[in-house]
Amino acid sequence: MPPVQPPADRPHRARPGARPWAGPRTGPGSLQRSLLALVLVPLVGLVGLVGYAVDEQAERAAAAAEATDDVRSAVALDVVRAAVAQEVVPVLGQAVLGDPATAASVGLDGASLAQLPTFAGDALGAQLAAAQRTTDEAVAAAGTTGAAAQAAAAGRGVRQLRAQSADGDLSAVFGGYRGLVARLAVQVGDHLQSASAAGLDDAGTRAVADLQRVSRASSLASVEVPLYFSSLTTSGQEQVDNRAAFLSTWGGYAVAATEVTSLNSPGSAARWTGVVSTPEAVQLEALLRTAALEDGSLALPQFVALTAANSARDAALGTVVAETGEAAVTAAGGPAREARDTLRVLVAVCALLVAGTLAAALLLRRWIAAPLGRLAAQARAVSDGELLDVEESGPAEVRTVARGLAAAVDNLRRVRDQAQAVADGALDADVVHRPVHGPLGEVVHDSVRRMVGALSERERLQADLAHQASHDALTGLPNRAQALLLIEAALHRAARSGGRVGLLFVDLDHFKAVNDTHGHSAGDELLRVVAGRMAACLRGGDVVARLGGDEFVVLVEGVEGGDGPAASTADAALVDLGRRLIDAVSEPVQLSGRHAGAQVRVGASVGVAGSGGGGGGAERLLVEADAAAYRAKAAGRGVVEVFDDALRAELARRGAVERALWTALAEGGLELHYQPVVDLATRSVEGVEALLRWDRPGHGPVPPAEAVAVAERSDLVCELGRWALAEACAQLVRWDGEGGALAGIGAAVNVSGRHLGQARLVGDVTAALAASGIAPERLTVEITETVLVDEPLALEQLRALRALGVRVAIDDFGTGYTSIGQLSRLPVDVLKIDRSFVASPDAASADLVRLLISAAHSSRLGVVAEGVEQDGQLTGLLAASCDAAQGYLFARPVPAGEVADLAVVTGAPAGAARG
Ligand code: C2E
Ligand code: CA
Ligand code: CA
Repeated sequence: MPPVQPPADRPHRARPGARPWAGPRTGPGSLQRSLLALVLVPLVGLVGLVGYAVDEQAERAAAAAEATDDVRSAVALDVVRAAVAQEVVPVLGQAVLGDPATAASVGLDGASLAQLPTFAGDALGAQLAAAQRTTDEAVAAAGTTGAAAQAAAAGRGVRQLRAQSADGDLSAVFGGYRGLVARLAVQVGDHLQSASAAGLDDAGTRAVADLQRVSRASSLASVEVPLYFSSLTTSGQEQVDNRAAFLSTWGGYAVAATEVTSLNSPGSAARWTGVVSTPEAVQLEALLRTAALEDGSLALPQFVALTAANSARDAALGTVVAETGEAAVTAAGGPAREARDTLRVLVAVCALLVAGTLAAALLLRRWIAAPLGRLAAQARAVSDGELLDVEESGPAEVRTVARGLAAAVDNLRRVRDQAQAVADGALDADVVHRPVHGPLGEVVHDSVRRMVGALSERERLQADLAHQASHDALTGLPNRAQALLLIEAALHRAARSGGRVGLLFVDLDHFKAVNDTHGHSAGDELLRVVAGRMAACLRGGDVVARLGGDEFVVLVEGVEGGDGPAASTADAALVDLGRRLIDAVSEPVQLSGRHAGAQVRVGASVGVAGSGGGGGGAERLLVEADAAAYRAKAAGRGVVEVFDDALRAELARRGAVERALWTALAEGGLELHYQPVVDLATRSVEGVEALLRWDRPGHGPVPPAEAVAVAERSDLVCELGRWALAEACAQLVRWDGEGGALAGIGAAVNVSGRHLGQARLVGDVTAALAASGIAPERLTVEITETVLVDEPLALEQLRALRALGVRVAIDDFGTGYTSIGQLSRLPVDVLKIDRSFVASPDAASADLVRLLISAAHSSRLGVVAEGVEQDGQLTGLLAASCDAAQGYLFARPVPAGEVADLAVVTGAPAGAARG
C-alpha cells in the first residue's frame, strides 16, 4: 500500500513569508468605533429629547409671552379707557357752566353761576387739561403695546370728541365719550379673553380675573357721574333712559365694588379699599347715593364737590387699575419665565449629560481601549517574532489576556533560549532542561530534549573517535601523532614562558623475547603494565605516550634552567627520571589470564633530549631523544643516555649522508657488487647476492650497512630497494646475453624491513621482473630474521612475493628469536645461516649449525651458509649437508664484470678440499 500523501495545499499550512496574524493594525479599530457608537447613540437621543423639550418650553414661553402681551395691551387700553372717562366730567362741567339753560337744568341758578367761573371754571379747566394730558400719555403708552392700532383709534376718537365739545352739542359729545369708553372696555375684555385663551397659569388667571374686576368696577365708577349729569341735562325719554342707565351703573358699581373686596390679590383689594375710603370718595358715594335714591337737583357746592371728588376718585382708581394691571402683566409673564427657567435647566442638564458621557467615553478609552490597543500592538509584535515584555494594565479581562500573552512569550523565549543553547552547543545549560508549558511546549521541549540527546551522543562518539585517533588502543596512552602534537604545544608554551621541555625516549629491552616465548597476549599485558608503571613515575602534567611497538616517550614540562650549567642540572633531573623509569619497567611482571603464574621481566634503554639546544620542533626533539636511546641500546641497554654534542654531530653527519645518498641514487652514483653463492654439491655458482656499493664523492666508499642504516630512517631505503631489484634483474639479463657460465643463474637482493612493511614492495618486485623479463624464480628476496619478527606485515608480503614465483630467503638466521619449530610455517624458501655461527670456533656453534641445517631440510628449506672463509668451515658444512655457501673462501663481492672470472676460480678450493 502506498504511503498516504498529505494534500498538496493543506489549508492550515502558512504560505512562506505570510504574516502569521493579520488583525486590524492601525487607526480607530472596531472597539473604538463601538465605543464611539455606544456614546453617540444615547447622546443623539438625549439631544433629540432635550430639543423636543426645549421646543415645548419655547412654545410655552411664546404662548405665555403672547398672553402677557394681551394682558399688557388690556392694561394699556384700560388705562386709556380710564383716562378718556376722566375727560367726560370736566367737559360736561364746562358745558353746564357755559350754558345757563343747562345750568338751570342741573339746578344751578344765575347768581351761583355768576360766581362760578372765577373758581370752578378754573378748576374744571385744570381738571380737563390734566385729564387730557393723562389720556394722551395713556394713548402714547398703549401705542407701544400690541393694542397700538386700537390705542391710535381711541386717540383719534378722543381728539374728535374734544373738537366736538367746543361746538356745544353736549348730548352728542357725551354719547361719543360713552361709546368710546364702552368700546375700549370691550377691547380690554377681548384682550383679557385672548390672554386666557393663549395660556395662563393659575396665578396669571387669578391676576387677570382681579384686573377684570378692578377694571369693571373702575369703568362703572368712571361713568356714574357722567350718567348722572346726563340724566339731569336731558329731557323726555332721553332723560328717562339716562336716569335708568345711571341707576343701573350706580347699582352695578356697588356690586362690582363689593366684588373687588374679594380680589385674589389682597394687595390690590387693600389699595382699592384705600381709594374708596378716602373722604372725597366717601363724600362722592354719599352724593351719588342721594342722587340715586332721592332724585332732584344739585346745589352748586354739591356739584363742584361732585366733579372734584369724581375726578380724584377716577385718578386714584386709575392708579389701582394700573397697579393691578401691572400685577396681571407680571403674573401673566410667569409661565414664560418658568418656561425659560426650565429651558435653562434643560440645556444645562443636557450639557452636563453630554459632558459626562464624553468624559466617560474618554475614561473608557483610557482604561479599556488604550490598554487593549497596547495589547494588540504587543500581540502584533509577538506574531512578528518579537519577544517583548508584555505590559499588564487596564481592566481585569485585558490583564488576563495580557498575562496569557506574557506566558506565551515566556514559553517562546524559553524555546528560543533552548534552541540558542543547542545552537551554541551548550547542551548542559539549565535552560535546555527547563520544561515548556502546554501541550505544544511539551512537544517542543521533547524534541529539544531528543535533539540534545542525539547531539550529546554524537559528541560522545566524536570524542571517542578523536580519542581513538589520538590514543593507543592497547595502553590508552596518547599515540605517536598525539605525542607529536603534545610535544609541539609544550614547546610553544615553553617558548613563551622561557622554560624548557624534556623528552625521554624509552625503548624496552628484550621485549621480543617475551613475545616469542609467551605470545602476543603476554606481550600486550606486559606493555599495559609497564605503561602504567611509567605513568606512576610522573608528576602531574607530564605525559607518557606510546610511539608503537615497545617504544614510549615521556614528555616533561617546566624543566628548570636553560642553557649552560643550569641545563646540565636540568639534564641531571631528566636522567634521574630516566633511571627511575628503567627501575620501574625492570620490575618483574606477574602475568595473568592464560599465562597466570608466569613472571616476565624486561628492561629499558632511555634517551634524553631537552628543548633549547638550538630550537627545532617536536619531530626534531623526538629524533634527538631517539638518537640518545639508540646510543643507550648500543652502550649495552638498561642505561640513560643524554642527547649531546656528539650525538648532534652524528645526527648532522647522518643527515649529510642521507642527502648525499639521495643524490647518488638520482645521479647513478650507486653500484651493485655481486658475491657468488656456490652450490656445494656441484661446486658451481648457482647464483649471486647483490650488495650495495657507494663511493661517496669526497669521502670514499661508505660501508653498505651504514648507508642502509641511514637510508632506513626514511623512505629512501625503499627507493634504494626498488633500484637494487631493477638493477640486479637487469644484470641477470646482461649475463644471460653473454651466454657464459653466468647465463641462467639467480640473484638475491637484500630488502630492508621498512620496505617490507610497505605495500609497494610487491609492485617494485613485479616492476623489476617485468622490466627485465626474467623468470620470477631466479630472483630471491632476502629479509633479515629480525625484520621477520618485528614487521607485522612481513608474512603477508612474503606470501604475496612467493605467489609471484619469487623466492624468499631469511637472512642472518640465528641472530633473531625465530624458533626452529616455526620454520615450517614461515613462507620462505631459503635459510641463510649467519656468519657468526659459521665462523665461530665453538663446538656448540658447529652443533647449532648442523641442527639448523637439518631443521631447515626437514621443513624443505634450502640452506646457504654465509661468511665461509676457511676450508675447515666448508668441511663442517659439507658434513652437515649444507646446500650452498658464500664467503671469502670462494669469492669476495665484486663488480658485475668480474663475476664471470670468479666462476672458474670458485671450484678450486672445493677441489682442494676434495683433494
Ligand atoms: P649481508 O646481507 O649479510 O651481506 C653479506 C655481507 O657479508 C657482505 O657485507 C659481505 O661482503 C660480507 N661477507 C661475505 N663473505 C664474507 C666472509 O667470508 N667474511 C666476512 N667477514 N664477510 C663476508 P657487506 O657488503 O659489507 O654488506 C653488509 C650488509 O649490508 C649486508 O649484510 C646487508 O645486510 C646490507 N646490504 C648490502 N647491500 C644491500 C642492499 O643492496 N640492500 C640492503 N637492504 N642491504 C644491503
Ligand atoms: Ca644478505
Ligand atoms: Ca647475511
